[in-house]
Amino acid sequence: MTGRVSGEVAPVSGAEFTGAELSESVRATIETLPPEIVIVDQDIVASYARDQSRFTDSALPAAVFAPRTTEEVAACMAAAHRNSVTVVPRGAGSGLSGAANAVAECVVLSLHRMTAIREVDAVNRIAVVEPGVVTADLRARVAADGLFYPPDPGSVEFSTIGGNVATNAGGMCCVKYGVTGDFVLGLQVVLADGRIMRTGRRTVKGVAGYDLTHLMVGSEGTLGIITEITVKLLPAPRPAQTLVASFPTLDGAGRTVSEIARSGSIPSMLEILDRTTVQAVDAASGMGIGSDTAALLIVQSDDVDADAVLARVESICRNFDAEDVVLSSDPMESAMLLEARRLALPALERLGDWLLDDVAVPVSRIAELIESIETIAAEHGLTIGVFGHAGDGNLHPTIIYDESDAGSREAAISAFDAITRRALELGGTITGEHGVGRLKARWLTVEHDETSAAVHRAVKTALDPTGILNPGSVLTS
Ligand SMILES: Cc1cc2nc3c(=O)[nH]c(=O)nc-3n(C[C@H](O)[C@H](O)[C@H](O)COP(=O)(O)OP(=O)(O)OC[C@H]3O[C@@H](n4cnc5c(N)ncnc54)[C@H](O)[C@@H]3O)c2cc1C
Repeated sequence: MTGRVSGEVAPVSGAEFTGAELSESVRATIETLPPEIVIVDQDIVASYARDQSRFTDSALPAAVFAPRTTEEVAACMAAAHRNSVTVVPRGAGSGLSGAANAVAECVVLSLHRMTAIREVDAVNRIAVVEPGVVTADLRARVAADGLFYPPDPGSVEFSTIGGNVATNAGGMCCVKYGVTGDFVLGLQVVLADGRIMRTGRRTVKGVAGYDLTHLMVGSEGTLGIITEITVKLLPAPRPAQTLVASFPTLDGAGRTVSEIARSGSIPSMLEILDRTTVQAVDAASGMGIGSDTAALLIVQSDDVDADAVLARVESICRNFDAEDVVLSSDPMESAMLLEARRLALPALERLGDWLLDDVAVPVSRIAELIESIETIAAEHGLTIGVFGHAGDGNLHPTIIYDESDAGSREAAISAFDAITRRALELGGTITGEHGVGRLKARWLTVEHDETSAAVHRAVKTALDPTGILNPGSVLTS
């Protein structure tokens, strides 16, 4: 699924090394590096060409570098800088915006061998990790000490902390806990020319200098290579209680979300599935949620007074005409109630080829966005299912199309653009969590004003003056 070839390293051999397919500059870069961190086997290299996105360009990388230490990363970057070789950093390749896609003549720098959890400090509630650590592994490790690392992207079982930081990944917990960046205290970063920089702190507070840590967060491999991350941890919360409510109208569900926000209750999860998604889930699972359901809300609370929080939420749901409200405090039953959300994307995937979008609007406007998407689907003759994180306004419209049909492909990309435009009109953003990458690079200057775009370019030039880091991602030029 991720295209990652974990741990497989084919050292460059003399025969391969003299291969005509390697340019002089790539050969000169490779020559200075330990052979065991260089992969040129074309079959393996090919598996590093793309992430999980659709409608994004990619190319076969010339080679893959798989360094084991910060010093080796620095050596890779210094050599690439000297020889003007383009470098595309890569975690697990699970991204959905083409940000880790290789470009022609580039080297992919994969962090998959840097998997140490160096420190878990229960008193200061921090962990220090290497970038290739899989997110679920960190969550499990700190849980063993009664601690909690909240960020939980849907890819938690295979994406890496480095990739999560570089995309500022979100997930279902964000409504209460925030995004990955809210848990990043400090970083070690290798700059484009191979210099090693420390940013941030290990302390609860700290305001010394510009916030370079959060300049790197979400920079999608365009400003530096993250080689160590210090994250903040929380005490483990209580097991969550769950509520599921079905609504006969989208408006009722939308107003419920707004009212939950207004009430001051902060659930630890507040997810929505629209009619199309509910029907796809029913068809895939036989769950029987019902064809009359216009929207399903799934709410969790892990507060000490979760009973009271969910009682308030239930009463709000009923005020807005929820048809069916089911509550559970039993962890097994809660997991079953979450099944519809877990199945949302797999169920939509069964309907055809899919293009997953990621936009965010103010929470008060999610019903308007979903209504607009219904109109866009009808206008384009496409099925579009919507699910996502209603509690923070971040939705994932999923466009179903036929990859083998040029007209259907064209309709899909046109609908994708229409949804992105509509999110901006509603006061939202072109991406809530998946990042800009190559998929939405042309939209960045639509969202940001000219001055902001100029500052983006100035920052890029300051940190990567020759433009060797991940060109074409985030910024179009
Ligand atoms: C089924 C599925 C569900 C998903 N659910 C979510 C979700 O709920 N929320 C969410 O936010 N995303 C989600 N994603 C998208 C994706 O998993 C995230 O963007 C994730 O953070 C990418 O991590 P990765 O390790 O795979 O990084 P990659 O895809 O390999 O890289 C992503 C970007 O980070 C850069 N990068 C990677 N490592 C480093 C590093 N060490 N230093 C500098 N740059 C680096 C790359 O150059 C690229 O620009 C999902 C993806 C899938 C396939």
